[in-house]
Amino acid sequence: MFNALMLDKQDERTVASIRSIDEASLASSGNGDVLVRVEFSTLNYKDGLAITGKGPVVRQWPMVPGIDFAGVVEASSHPDYKPGDKVVLNGWGAGETHWGGLAQKARVPGDHLIALPANITTRQAMAVGTAGYTAMLCVQALEKHGVAAQDGDVLVTGANGGVGSFAVAILARRGYRVIASTGRPEEAARLRELGAADIVERATLSEPGKPLQKERWAAAVDCVGSHTLANVCASLRYGGAVAACGLAQGMDLPATVAPFILRGVALLGVDSVYVPRARRIAAWNAIADEVPVATIESVATTIPLADAPEAAARLLRGEIKGRVIVDVNA
Ligand code: NDP
Repeated sequence: MFNALMLDKQDERTVASIRSIDEASLASSGNGDVLVRVEFSTLNYKDGLAITGKGPVVRQWPMVPGIDFAGVVEASSHPDYKPGDKVVLNGWGAGETHWGGLAQKARVPGDHLIALPANITTRQAMAVGTAGYTAMLCVQALEKHGVAAQDGDVLVTGANGGVGSFAVAILARRGYRVIASTGRPEEAARLRELGAADIVERATLSEPGKPLQKERWAAAVDCVGSHTLANVCASLRYGGAVAACGLAQGMDLPATVAPFILRGVALLGVDSVYVPRARRIAAWNAIADEVPVATIESVATTIPLADAPEAAARLLRGEIKGRVIVDVNA
């Protein structure tokens, strides 16, 4: 038996509870050929939506939420993994279409796992989590497009969130001058510690704006969507690019084509859930090589599994800074 956070649908409401689950029942939750003893999971924005029922994330009930986890292989019939291997999983529908990481055990296809880089612990991996890994995918997308540090300022929106915090830290370490947009200016000192050179108030970007605005940013990482992303596109410099990964303000994009056809700016979509394996490995290796352990530790707080529902609600209210690690064995 093992403990899991379980989501049930009751009268159209999502109800979360800690349950003791029989290990045998894991076999029916996907075609998993690897059994993992989960050590840590985490709370991402999507987990917040799933646990509170505020977004249509869960596709099957009952569901163990958790779009990511890190742990140790307990049993495997997959050729790449053996008992004792440290592994990490991000996405692939975990916590959406099959049982996810907010549990002490998970059974998943080995093709969904990657080996944890040697210099990173399972706890640190979940301090990074899908948020940090997505931030790295965003930075890599910008650089693949040709963005370089000498091009000019790079804006990060939703900077105090998980993706935003890591995007600020990664870009700053790569030599970019980072401008952090936040609705929590009282956290400016924290953002400057992560590497932000300057702070802009979220409200200056979140209201409807003109189709073309003053050229300000060479590039951007956008976690917010909606009017914010429209304003970012409208204020990118000629030939600039934005890596768009989030929808914290909204799913809509009330923009015009003007920035694309008159300034040649690029809107680069970033998905972390089904991104191919080689790019996952490249992103995790880059994180392990570049992001100092002290930075990883500084963005994270740890909570026990039982506190996940309450923390999920706080996350959606925008009350959490950085990352929340969930110790599933606490
Ligand atoms: P967090 O909740 O940690 O951060 C979101 C941040 O967005 C908040 O901290 C806040 O930053 C800002 N924000 C919140 N509400 C609003 C609003 N109404 N208007 C403007 N800004 C707002 O979430 P994550 O960092 O985990 O995820 C960020 C986004 O990226 C989410 O939308 C998430 O779904 C998405 N995502 C997408 C992935 C993908 O594969 N494409 C993978 C991972 C995440 P501040 O306080 O600084 O203003």
